[in-house]
Amino acid sequence: MLTKMLIGGRFVDGTGAEETVYAPVTGDVILGIAEASAEQVDAAVAAATAAFPAWAMTSPSERSLCLLRIAEAIEARAEDLAAIEALNTGKPRHLVLSDEIPAIVDGFRFFAGAARNVQGPVAGEYMAGHTSMLRRAPVGVVGAIVPWNYPLLMGAWKLAPALAAGNCCVIKPSENTPLSLLLLGQLMNDCLPPGVVNVITGRGASVGQQLLDHPDIGMISLTGDIATGRKVITAAARSVKRTHLELGGKAPVLVYDDADLEAVVQGLRTFGYYNAGQDCTAACRVYADARIYDRLVAELTTAVASIRYGQADDALNEIPPLVSARQRSRVAAFVERAAELPHVEVTTGGRMGEGNGFFYEPTVIAGARPGDEIVEREVFGPVVSLTRCTDMEAVIADVNSSIYGLASSVWTRDIGRGMSAAARLRYGCTWVNTHFMLVNEMPHAGFRHSGYGSDMSLGCLEDYTIPRHVMVNWS
Ligand code: NAD
Repeated sequence: MLTKMLIGGRFVDGTGAEETVYAPVTGDVILGIAEASAEQVDAAVAAATAAFPAWAMTSPSERSLCLLRIAEAIEARAEDLAAIEALNTGKPRHLVLSDEIPAIVDGFRFFAGAARNVQGPVAGEYMAGHTSMLRRAPVGVVGAIVPWNYPLLMGAWKLAPALAAGNCCVIKPSENTPLSLLLLGQLMNDCLPPGVVNVITGRGASVGQQLLDHPDIGMISLTGDIATGRKVITAAARSVKRTHLELGGKAPVLVYDDADLEAVVQGLRTFGYYNAGQDCTAACRVYADARIYDRLVAELTTAVASIRYGQADDALNEIPPLVSARQRSRVAAFVERAAELPHVEVTTGGRMGEGNGFFYEPTVIAGARPGDEIVEREVFGPVVSLTRCTDMEAVIADVNSSIYGLASSVWTRDIGRGMSAAARLRYGCTWVNTHFMLVNEMPHAGFRHSGYGSDMSLGCLEDYTIPRHVMVNWS
């Protein structure tokens, strides 16, 4: 198995402290992997810095071709990438193959096209005798830091636009899930000049923090926890770096009395529990009109109890275990605290799974109230809360005051009602009668503590570039 980091086009073992990497399905150790030493972090940044002038001057069509080759290489090695991702994250392999790899490939292809379609105001004589033109310069070296819930996908969301815009990258996967990005680094190295992409492994407090503080990194792009986002901002305040933050989420799901309940139940069963709820857009807190609330609780409870996981035949599994024993304890503690509330009922789940893997039962928490921890804080596990509501208008104001502002959904047969709610919800995304669907053409961004800057879409390219004005005096 590939365990080597990629620095300056060469594959090297880490020489820092050793980290243990686990297989969440069994709880077994996969391997120990040494993280990058401080000297290796410096070497990766130096390699990216050295590669930058030539890469920044490549034509958009050259960069586009490189990204298309990367997409092809990922497709060709889809089975290997999926197997490693499944082993290291515990995800059902068939879902990595059907859902994640195609999205990753499409992301590289989208930004291959986007590289050649950067938009801006036309050149012109905005002052007599002077021609002004807009350039978009790459930032330089981008430090990309990604989480464990979608290691490859989150990596692709950062690498594809950063490279398309002409930046060089040093990327660090989560210490829990480094393996798939190491393989992606190998594939990318065959498609790019040395040093354009560097992959280094290690913990946040050591390797990650060194990236945040590095004077030669021009921008940090993080997907992770709000607390980590704060550390990025604090470090950036010292070095005046650009930052791009995709942080946590707690997606409200507004279910009106005229909603198609069958679709709601199916939607929640899928989008509340996908990836065991380890998803910043998970449909995890439901606000349902009192007139349909009891039926929704009953039908959702039955549906969620049928979610398949932990089967020996992985093709049957719909959700993975949690990524680590630590994450599972965190989820269990949230549910225990919620269950202690007199008005709350755990209608299904609420326990750890059997065996040594990090499984947690898909859980429904009924009777939750605004203000309860389970409603207000991100659990990042297979847990959905339901709240009975008599005033759906008040729900919009309530959820708009949440610290989170990433994703939301509205379920109603009245399209006017849906559009009205979508116009007023202050969330990066609002789905009407669905949830969770993303497309590379549209942005993925947050309000409030969910961060700023968008992943995906043409607008994302702007985040990875700096606009420049060039003016020629010909008078
Ligand atoms: P995390 O913040 O603990 O870790 C994310 C990455 O940051 C890891 O690579 C980690 O090593 C690194 N890191 C940690 N401390 C650091 C430091 N001091 N300096 C530099 N790097 C550091 O998050 P996680 O537990 O891996 O992932 C779960 C979180 O990610 C959840 O809160 C989730 O909502 C969020 N997330 C957000 C999005 C989004 O698009 N908004 C997508 C996926 C996950």
